[in-house]
Amino acid sequence: MSEKRKQFETEAIRTQLKRTDFLEHTSPIYLTSSFVFEDAEDMRASFTEEKERNIYSRFSNPNTTEFVDKICKMEGAESGYAFATGMAAVFSTFAALLKSGNHIVSARSVFGSTHALFVNYFPKWNIETTYFDITKPETIESCITENTKILYAETPTNPAVDIIDLELLGDIAKKHNLILIIDNCFATPYLQQPIKYGAHLVIHSATKLIDGQGRVLGGITVGNADLIREIYLFSRNTGPALSPFNAWILSKSLETLAVRVDKHCENAFKVAGFLEGHPNVNWVKYPFLKSHPQYDVAKKQMKLGGNIVAFEVNGGIESGRKFLNSIKMCSLSANLGDTRTIVTHPASTTHSKLSEADRLEVSITDGLVRISVGLEHVDDIIKDLEQALK
Ligand SMILES: *Cc1c(COP(=O)(O)O)cnc(C)c1O
Repeated sequence: MSEKRKQFETEAIRTQLKRTDFLEHTSPIYLTSSFVFEDAEDMRASFTEEKERNIYSRFSNPNTTEFVDKICKMEGAESGYAFATGMAAVFSTFAALLKSGNHIVSARSVFGSTHALFVNYFPKWNIETTYFDITKPETIESCITENTKILYAETPTNPAVDIIDLELLGDIAKKHNLILIIDNCFATPYLQQPIKYGAHLVIHSATKLIDGQGRVLGGITVGNADLIREIYLFSRNTGPALSPFNAWILSKSLETLAVRVDKHCENAFKVAGFLEGHPNVNWVKYPFLKSHPQYDVAKKQMKLGGNIVAFEVNGGIESGRKFLNSIKMCSLSANLGDTRTIVTHPASTTHSKLSEADRLEVSITDGLVRISVGLEHVDDIIKDLEQALK
């Protein structure tokens, strides 16, 4: 580890498995469920972990190792484990670290399925969650009890792209001796590295911008080596491992993450600027627009503003729906972070099960539209939005 670390883009491309005798340029896919041992002694030493090596692909596989190594370098993490989906990463991380009686303090606006874990499942195991309002960070400390073990947040949030100050969360976690976990999915390791601010663990749904091409599902947790060890042992027994093939895809995707995300952000900034000046739009939220309430925090901790733009169409839930029905080129889909621009209307879809009051608590108004800005030419994206707003 004495060698100086290379730049982000270089690590994303040049971190790779040792070449085989074929001297392949790009890493091969190791589609194998298990690995063989030289002899009984090799097998014994491998199982007791005196030797670090691949045994069985539920534990580790060369392709998942390459993917994990890259994300660790990008996030400045010591260690990590890769999962079949982002939700497998979220669930396994909590399940590995918590026991009955523990308490979570979380930002209220979290990904829908994460919210479902907190509300519908963890209470069955006597694990309660207290939510804080992301726009009122001064209330966080009052949520902490003597049983609190984890402080959890996403930034930017989904779908309202609110921002929370990572430095502040890092300070609170340190003061109260909590494990700080950040879901860094919307920012990607290219735009923001929460470990710098004191996060102990960082989670990604690799399904989004990391794959970036709408092909595979994946997830990963990286961070403090002792915590990752707990998560690894839990996961090697419970089986949420990422498949070698998907790991290979995701590792290749990381080679282009920086250029893709640069372009996503450039397009998103232009789309946000267009919407901000439109008469049929009530408001626009984008982290790098000066009008964003947490603009200064976004500028401090993010390299660029990300690819998600939230805005409100005039006229409530009906005009939100009408706007979606008038979209011609952009996709109506549940994914985000794809090369294709995706438009969603959370009030009538992803968050329709919440009451209007609950939606408002997480800044989802009836007319809110979320755009995951893609890599088509920005003029074509804007043209599509413009005709639909008419
Ligand atoms: C999509 C998403 C997840 C879940 O990831 P999957 O790969 O769909 O399981 C978790 N957190 C955030 C912020 C997401 O956007």
